[in-house]
Amino acid sequence: MNRDYCLRGTAKSEKVRFFISSTKELVEQARIKHNLSPLATAALGRTLTATAMMGINLKGKDTLTLAFKGDGVLGNVVAKGNSEGEVKGYADNPEANLPLKKNGKIDVSSGVGFGTLCVTKDMGLKEPYVGTVPIVSGEIGEDITEYFYSSEQTLSAVGLGVLVDIDYSVKSAGGFIFQLMPGAEREIGIELDEKVQNLPPLSTYLIDNTPEDLLQYFFGNDYKLLDKKNVEFHCQCSKDNFKSALITLGKEELEKLAHDEEIEVVCQFCNEKYIYDNYELLELVKLI
Ligand SMILES: [Zn+2]
Repeated sequence: MNRDYCLRGTAKSEKVRFFISSTKELVEQARIKHNLSPLATAALGRTLTATAMMGINLKGKDTLTLAFKGDGVLGNVVAKGNSEGEVKGYADNPEANLPLKKNGKIDVSSGVGFGTLCVTKDMGLKEPYVGTVPIVSGEIGEDITEYFYSSEQTLSAVGLGVLVDIDYSVKSAGGFIFQLMPGAEREIGIELDEKVQNLPPLSTYLIDNTPEDLLQYFFGNDYKLLDKKNVEFHCQCSKDNFKSALITLGKEELEKLAHDEEIEVVCQFCNEKYIYDNYELLELVKLI
């Protein structure tokens, strides 16, 4: 049963925009599909959680991609989402792991490393919008805060948490994004910041608390809920969808592939495997 969802609304007399989500099942699905190490579960889980929330703000068929291109052991960490709360993603090296930090936390920062965070919004126009910022800490949340500030000129607070259990399954996951609207008083930012500082680690907090509890903690009753949407790990790939990708390889390449009895195509985003036998490949050649 999927119990993950995202709350969207405004608070503090519409001076703050909020997104708060629970993503335990979503991150667990990612872990199972990609056989993620605890390090990759934390890094990709946080990225998926942020993407799910940012995706909720999109319109229609627009899509959003967050790509952390760092020099850490995980390689690229990428998530893609849409306005329906569907999100998918991968890490280049899903099984890479690192020792825990001295405080017992997973070392996401070293796993991601230094490099760039690239945010792509495809709004169906000729050119997608691309915003690139340097990775400031590799902790994901701070990097997204930096992206909002430098690329969208928006002050924000981003909290993301993934707790990995002893058996490596996901014990809790979720996050929040608060954005100050233009004209918001400085005090609102300071007050929010204090509340963020006083909150227990988010991943621990989310074991027994819901997004509604977080909403209450931050804003009391001074908020307006606009939307509650389910979020889930979902990839729209199919055997048919990959046919068009195969066709782009061209006639010669396809004929070469058809020398094998069958070929396997793996979806990068969800790790689903599709088999095409040589008959099917030659049928594709006819379409070129
Ligand atoms: Zn897929």
